[in-house]
Amino acid sequence: MKNSFDPDNADTMATATRLVNAGRRAEWTGPVVNPPVWRASTHLYENMAALAQGPRSNEDGRFFYGRRGAPTQWALAEALTQMEPGAAGTVLYPSGVAAIAGVLLTVLRPGDVLLMSDNAYDPSRSMGTGMLADFGVETRFFDPRDLDRFVASFCPRTRAVMLEAPGSLTMEMCDIPALARIAREHGAVSVLDNTWAGPTGFAALPHGVDVVLMALTKHVGGHSDLMMGSASAGPELYQRLRLRAQNLGHVVSPDDAALALRGLRTLSLRLKQESDSALKIAAWLARQPQVAQVLCPMLPGAPGHDLWQRDFTGGCGLFSFVLRGGDMARRNRFIDALSLFGIGYSWGGFESLAVPVDPSPVRDVMTWPPSGCEAGDRYGVRLSIGLEDADDLIADLERAFAAIGG
Ligand SMILES: *Cc1c(COP(=O)(O)O)cnc(C)c1O
Repeated sequence: MKNSFDPDNADTMATATRLVNAGRRAEWTGPVVNPPVWRASTHLYENMAALAQGPRSNEDGRFFYGRRGAPTQWALAEALTQMEPGAAGTVLYPSGVAAIAGVLLTVLRPGDVLLMSDNAYDPSRSMGTGMLADFGVETRFFDPRDLDRFVASFCPRTRAVMLEAPGSLTMEMCDIPALARIAREHGAVSVLDNTWAGPTGFAALPHGVDVVLMALTKHVGGHSDLMMGSASAGPELYQRLRLRAQNLGHVVSPDDAALALRGLRTLSLRLKQESDSALKIAAWLARQPQVAQVLCPMLPGAPGHDLWQRDFTGGCGLFSFVLRGGDMARRNRFIDALSLFGIGYSWGGFESLAVPVDPSPVRDVMTWPPSGCEAGDRYGVRLSIGLEDADDLIADLERAFAAIGG
């Protein structure tokens, strides 16, 4: 039952080693490999003295009441912290959107301005224009590729910058270290939605980001059967995130935490396989006459590839492409003609998915179609490449191109 992995020295180990060992403290696992599912609302106290002590200490890893979790959730949070060099702790949320809300409600006050990347996940955008506006926070959208405009967009009320790279629909990359540095120079907290690359693909905090969040629903879960989010940060911000999450009553179920831990153990294997297949498929798509542009930062020559190569250590199976010409009905016929790709608004599972890309209604400053497309090229498709054989997926795409004609 010996596991001599030292959590305090996690940063010195390679990613693969950390993924296997992270969060598996013997005091949480007991004599088995994984922490059991502690399904608990009530924590019982030894006696009155212990009861009186309970509410007083609000430290991680101490029993108090179910809303503060139990070893299953603590193990997952600690595992995620060990995957993020520079993080003091990780807060778990019941979904990725809850993580975004929990973080923004921590770092913003009425009267503040939030700068949000224009290609951010749509629910992040509507959170800015909806809920945050109701709370007196003003959200302004910016093109993360234009650093000069970004610098000029700060005002004395700017308190936070929300980044996402690549944008999870249209896949634009940005210079995260430069954007985070500029935010810091202006006294604003930088928040990165790192769901695409995850901790194995991009080390957010060492690149200057203040808070890194993820939808664990996607790759960490990895099997399309759970909803969860996380946010990790250095000591000061972590404590603030944690207290705000407690105020909001955020807690995740131990069953889902156990599933997320199971997913985490195979994260790098799955991402490597997906990325290899995605690259092969993206390169094949780039050669098809019906394709105007492939939007995949991992693909040499594609938009944002240089930044991806400079800053990232990995990617995933999610990318988009734009069809040459045609109308929406033709694009929709293409997606309908696929048989190995499900149609669904998610990604990061073991199974491949396809959805349409029509970003124009949800952009303020970034233009669509992307530069490099000709007039008439505008109907996009986003693919989430799963663990099927890449050649089978290519054959499926080939059949769908045949179904819509040249
Ligand atoms: C899916 C997703 C989220 C939200 O996660 P949920 O668990 O579905 O709430 C946040 N950010 C990005 C980039 C996503 O793709």
